[in-house]
Amino acid sequence: MNDCQTFHGVTAAIFERVKDIGRRERGTAYDPPDAVSGTATTITPVGSIVLTFDLDARAETLTYCIASRPWIMPANAIFDGIANTIDLCRGGAAQVVTSRVPSARELATGAVAAASGVQSNWSGTIQYSPASYVEPANFLELRQAVQGATTAGQQIRPRGTGHSWNQAISTSGCSINTIRMSPGNRAACVCTGKPPGERPCGDRQSCNDVVWGDIITFNGQSCQLVTVPPGINQGDLAALAQAKGCPLPTQGPAPDITLSGFVANGCHGTGWTQPTIAELVYGLELMGPGGQTFFFSMEQVPPELASLGIAPPDMMNIVRANLGALGVLTKIVFALPRTPFNLRVNNDFVVLTDVLDPSDPGKLEALVTGNDYVEIFWFPYNNFRMEWLKPVAVGPTTDTLWLMRLNRTNQPVTVGEVIIDAWNELFGELAAIGGPIGNVVEMSNDLVPIVSKFALDTIRGKTLLDSLAVFPPADAFLYQRAYFRNFLDLEFTIPMTGSQGFRDVVDAFYMLVNRMEAWRTGQSGSFQYPVNLNVHLRFIKNSQALMSPAYQPAGSPTHTCYIEYLSYADGRLTDEYLAFSQDFYSAAHGLGWKKYRGLPHWGKYLPSVPGIFPYVHELLAPPSGPTPSRLAQFLSVRNIIDPGGTVFTNSYLESIFTGTP
Ligand SMILES: Cc1cc2nc3c(=O)[nH]c(=O)nc-3n(C[C@H](O)[C@H](O)[C@H](O)COP(=O)(O)OP(=O)(O)OC[C@H]3O[C@@H](n4cnc5c(N)ncnc54)[C@H](O)[C@@H]3O)c2cc1C
Repeated sequence: MNDCQTFHGVTAAIFERVKDIGRRERGTAYDPPDAVSGTATTITPVGSIVLTFDLDARAETLTYCIASRPWIMPANAIFDGIANTIDLCRGGAAQVVTSRVPSARELATGAVAAASGVQSNWSGTIQYSPASYVEPANFLELRQAVQGATTAGQQIRPRGTGHSWNQAISTSGCSINTIRMSPGNRAACVCTGKPPGERPCGDRQSCNDVVWGDIITFNGQSCQLVTVPPGINQGDLAALAQAKGCPLPTQGPAPDITLSGFVANGCHGTGWTQPTIAELVYGLELMGPGGQTFFFSMEQVPPELASLGIAPPDMMNIVRANLGALGVLTKIVFALPRTPFNLRVNNDFVVLTDVLDPSDPGKLEALVTGNDYVEIFWFPYNNFRMEWLKPVAVGPTTDTLWLMRLNRTNQPVTVGEVIIDAWNELFGELAAIGGPIGNVVEMSNDLVPIVSKFALDTIRGKTLLDSLAVFPPADAFLYQRAYFRNFLDLEFTIPMTGSQGFRDVVDAFYMLVNRMEAWRTGQSGSFQYPVNLNVHLRFIKNSQALMSPAYQPAGSPTHTCYIEYLSYADGRLTDEYLAFSQDFYSAAHGLGWKKYRGLPHWGKYLPSVPGIFPYVHELLAPPSGPTPSRLAQFLSVRNIIDPGGTVFTNSYLESIFTGTP
């Protein structure tokens, strides 16, 4: 690869954000600090990376050249990392960003439409063309945008970093991205704890403050309340919480995802006794059509909704996982247990049947109930032999699983943790190398076993030192710092009650494996490896949020397994993924994971599942179930905030709410 790369469509504002992220997250020094050309030096555990940069603001091109780099750090990994950061600063892979908030007149006359361009989700698998795209930097700008769009009669869909794989964020109206409503956004105003010299705030409502509140008892635990803006991401929240002595008890591994979407979709980490992230929410504020706000908490219901006669805690369970259908989240109040802990991490590489044994599901039960946090990864067909130049899988039951166990400890963080953390950071950057592999898998699908073995060996290398150290929770949970983007993901829940639950999970896993085997051996499909990245399992307790995929009534003994399969999205691989899902979920093959009557994860590739809308509708609003159903309760709130869903419900959400594709 050439040691220079030019990135197009980079404005001066985007470059400022790129530099800001570089300084904050990687300690990059820019010399001169405020110039459009110069050098950028980043010190990594394996040596310094020195780049020259040159921004042509008129042509909107930014050129980076590598002046020096550690030999172990490939040039394409560095450029992929830069590309990821630039995309993030644009808000997804958007081509043109309207960073200025358009006026109502501009929205009404469509004056900003031409500048809005095509928007996409984070992975680039969903595209949509909104009439306007807005990234408000604070509450006041958000209200201006919402009022403008409502006056213009535009549909509004809120979004965050777009880390989801379906049309929930799509709209032909106004797409509002709250990513800049974040304390990490230096261009916005942070009113308290400001470094000296930052610009003053004229109005508290223009703040993106993190506000520490009272200490309360919540779910039987002493908890610290903290109010955060919607654009804060998992990494920043985890760092703040840990520094305050109330680490997040569970979270996902990707630091960049914004909490607005993580809460709205009822997202999860892992941990047998842990809830979803939405359960940690004590209160939230939503902005409805016209810009009015609704503040919900465990103690109060907004006056406009009092007529429903729903108690505050029950109301919170209606609104905490809201799919972005109840307005734009402007504030989230978390209640974080004041229980400091550290984590001992064990990564094991074991034969698949040591964990997922069809004749003994008790192995899985002992593992999951015997550790605080468990994750299981299968990189398909990583055991193979070469026949001539072709890898031939030996068979899934002989494959190696990657098994991650995290256990709480009071032992102090070890010195080695700093080194291991830097090591993880480095491997996180190297994860970007995975991107080009998608093209290889598309061109030569039979190489999947080699690719899987490569992934497994890379992780072995990455985790080599982990068991020697005790980590702070944020560093252990956020084990994957960077991701390549070109992949698809579909995730289902499997409700688990007693030992039968473990039998169901093992069954569900082999149900998938059996269809994969049918494709690999040519009995079905025309493609060997439609599932070509990994299969991933996590285990949590459950959720009382009515729209949560992990929903169970309070006090239920039922836990939840989240199981997902991921594949590269390049070229025909998406079509093959879809064809495989049609086959896997067909009645002829036992309805796939629909058999277990769990909901899919709202952020994943739902439309890849045939008949998904009637299926989820039946679970949310069973014809003979309790009255009113979970869905009916949710829609009763929606219909007060946004009557008929005319402003915030797009056609994709309408399909979920009606069961009609
Ligand atoms: C690399 C990667 C790792 C992931 N890891 C996990 C994981 O560990 N656990 C897990 O559960 N999921 C995971 N996901 C899925 C992802 O977390 C969810 O799809 C999440 O909803 C994305 O959040 P987002 O802020 O990017 O939201 P978006 O994708 O932008 O939007 C998702 C939904 O949230 C709504 N929304 C977003 N912002 C607002 C707002 N301000 N107000 C109201 N509604 C809003 C949108 O309208 C939409 O309905 C992962 C995805 C990726 C790509």
